[in-house]
Amino acid sequence: MKKVVKFGGSSLADTHQFEKVGAIVRAETSRRFVVPSAPGKRSKDDTKVTDMLYACYALAEQGKDFKEELDRIRDRYQQIVDGLGLKLSLEPEFAKIEENFRARAGKDYAASRGEYLNAILMSNYLGFAFVDAAEVVLFGEDGEFDAQKTNEVLAERLKNMPNAVIPGFYGSNPDGSIRTFSRGGSDITGSIVAKAVKADVYENWTDVSGFMIADPRIIPDPEKIDMITYRELRELSYMGASVLHEEAIFPVRSEGIPINIRNTNQPDDEGTWIVESTCQRSQFVITGIAGKKGFCSVNIEKDKMNSEIGFGRRVLQAFEDNGISFEHVPSGIDTMTVFVHQDAFVNKEQKVVSALHRLADPDMIDIEADLALIAVVGRGMKSTRGTAARIFAALAHKNINIRMIDQGSSELNIIIGVHNEDFEEAIRAIYNMFVLVQL
Ligand code: ASP
Repeated sequence: MKKVVKFGGSSLADTHQFEKVGAIVRAETSRRFVVPSAPGKRSKDDTKVTDMLYACYALAEQGKDFKEELDRIRDRYQQIVDGLGLKLSLEPEFAKIEENFRARAGKDYAASRGEYLNAILMSNYLGFAFVDAAEVVLFGEDGEFDAQKTNEVLAERLKNMPNAVIPGFYGSNPDGSIRTFSRGGSDITGSIVAKAVKADVYENWTDVSGFMIADPRIIPDPEKIDMITYRELRELSYMGASVLHEEAIFPVRSEGIPINIRNTNQPDDEGTWIVESTCQRSQFVITGIAGKKGFCSVNIEKDKMNSEIGFGRRVLQAFEDNGISFEHVPSGIDTMTVFVHQDAFVNKEQKVVSALHRLADPDMIDIEADLALIAVVGRGMKSTRGTAARIFAALAHKNINIRMIDQGSSELNIIIGVHNEDFEEAIRAIYNMFVLVQL
């Protein structure tokens, strides 16, 4: 059994958290490859080391004195070194960082030092080898992550190593400069490492015991999801679930490696399993509910649109030409509605409207703002009658007007559009209908 274990920032925020992580890794010899984030927040009002690094580097870039800010970062690490009683001096590392900041090594370099230093601490603490991600996580000339080359280099490097600590979040460009993934990117590194070593499981340790059926800010103390498929998670994550970086599933998914989300503060909890496929039914027909506010619908009408070949393509081209991606496109016989993110759309709306007239010559265009989309997702829907009816009954009962309905052809999800102000109430109504009634 071989596991890759990734620990998020809150799991490594201070000495006490490091000790918990140490106990988790030592509890199973299969936990051989460790991917740490940078130290996160110790309390609600604290600052993540990554954010401190960005701020510190911004001062350096403006030619301002950044010593105080860097000292604060140094302190965070020193407290952990002292607390764990490590025989380790970070002075040479900090001297190098200061020098590189002065030489304007770049924002990505600056941010990456958070995980770099934490991995050095972790490898010292666990007695595991340190492998710098800059040598094994590689980006191409185009700035995109080079999955194939990385996999070859990383697999070769880790092949004969009994264990190792590999910092998350960053890699290097072909010229050797540092490049980071987007925020939260250590989740991606963990997945890349799991693929390279052909792990049996990718454990992702964080500060919650897995995914909840609905957002706990809307539903207090929601039920947990025990098992979810990659496809279900995709349907939920693009709507805003935030436990795992959206892109983290791709490397392991292609290898059929399950991800287990675990809680560092409650290591005995089973967490959530993310798997390719399962015969295990979800407890409540639906696996999860997620959603987001802030969409616009662009309703385009044209008589006999249904028989005009290429109409849909021309409509979408108007959005593409303006660099706007769409979320959903429900259609009727003479209408087509395009749902877009309001933020991305507002400044370009008139350009899109004129492009639509130029390209598709519609009879009418009508724009509506402040809509929310809610995805109700579940592999169990396909084989259960009445799921849609229950959703709509729940919303009708709460007097919520449904603006749009879209059921994916996979029958894995039903997307509902409501007004922004009905968003929370709608999620509560659906949760009550499927989960509360069954408890
Ligand atoms: N430390 C980075 C961030 O705060 C990356 C990560 O934690 O995954 O975004």
